[in-house]
Amino acid sequence: MTVYLNGQFMPITEARIPVLDRGFIFGDGVYEVIPVYSRRPFRLLDHLKRLQHSLDGIRLQNPHSDAEWAQLIQELVTRNEAEDQYLYLHITRGVAKRDHAFPKNAVPTIFMMSNPLLTPPAALLASGVSAVSAVDNRWLRCDIKAIALLPNVLLRQIAVDAGAAETILIRDDSFMTEGAASNIFVVKNGVLLAPPKNHLMLPGITYDVVLEIAQAAGIPQEVRKIAASEVFNADELLLTSSTKEVLAITTLDGKAVDNGKPGKMFMQLHQLYQDYKRDVMRKT
Ligand code: PMP
Repeated sequence: MTVYLNGQFMPITEARIPVLDRGFIFGDGVYEVIPVYSRRPFRLLDHLKRLQHSLDGIRLQNPHSDAEWAQLIQELVTRNEAEDQYLYLHITRGVAKRDHAFPKNAVPTIFMMSNPLLTPPAALLASGVSAVSAVDNRWLRCDIKAIALLPNVLLRQIAVDAGAAETILIRDDSFMTEGAASNIFVVKNGVLLAPPKNHLMLPGITYDVVLEIAQAAGIPQEVRKIAASEVFNADELLLTSSTKEVLAITTLDGKAVDNGKPGKMFMQLHQLYQDYKRDVMRKT
C-alpha cells in the first residue's frame, strides 16, 4: 500500500512518525474518511468543508487549499490498486516537546492512506445488523472529527462484546445522538426522523445525502431531537456512514425492531442511494 506522509508518497512499511508527535502524545489532531468509487472521491468538497470545520474547532491552520487536497488525494488514489477505496486523511499539530500548550513553531503532520472499500455485502443488506444502546458519555464537541477516539472505541466495543454491529448513543438519559461510528435515523409511521446537526454529533456526509435523496423522492422527513423512547419504539432504524452507506438495524438490545427484517424505508433509501451514487459518479 502506498501512503502519503508530509509531502512524500511511500510504501506504508516505510512511513515513520516521531514519538513526540502530538497526535501520538495527546490525540491532538483531526481526520476525514472519504469514499472513492471508480477512483473518484465521493462528495469531496463536503468532506473538505467538514475537515475545515474540524481544523477550525481545534484551532489548527489548514495546511492545504481545497485544490491542493484534491490533487494529493487523486494522486494517492492513482497510486493504489483498488477501483473503490476508503481514503483516510489525518492531520496533527506536529512534533514538539511534550507540553499541553500549542507549540509555537510546530509543522503539522499530514498522513493519508487508502484501503480497498468493501461496502456491505448483499447478505448483510438483506438481514440488517444488530445494535445495542449505551449512554453517550463523550465530550461536548462531537461535531469535530477528532483523532482522539477513545470514547468511541470503548462505546463500539460494547456492541462487539454483545455480538452486535453498532452502539446507539443516548445522551442525558433522554435523546439519541448517533452511533459510535455512524449516524442513526428512526422511521415511524412512514416519516424519516433525523437528529439535528449540532455539537453533540458528527455532521455525517452520508446523513446529508440520505436527507437530500429522501427529500427529492418526496419521503416525509423531520429533523428534530429524537427521544430515546422513539428509538426503542421505532418501525425501522437505519445506520449511515461513508463505508457502510445505508444499513438497516433489525435488532436493538436483543429485541427485534418491528418484525426484525429490513423495512420498506430501508429498501427505498438503499436503492435511492445506489442510484444517486451512480448519477454523481457519471457526472464527475
Ligand atoms: N458519526 C460518527 C461518530 C462517525 O465516526 C461517522 C463516520 N464513521 C459518522 C457519524 C458518519 O459520517 P460519514 O457519513 O461522513 O461517514
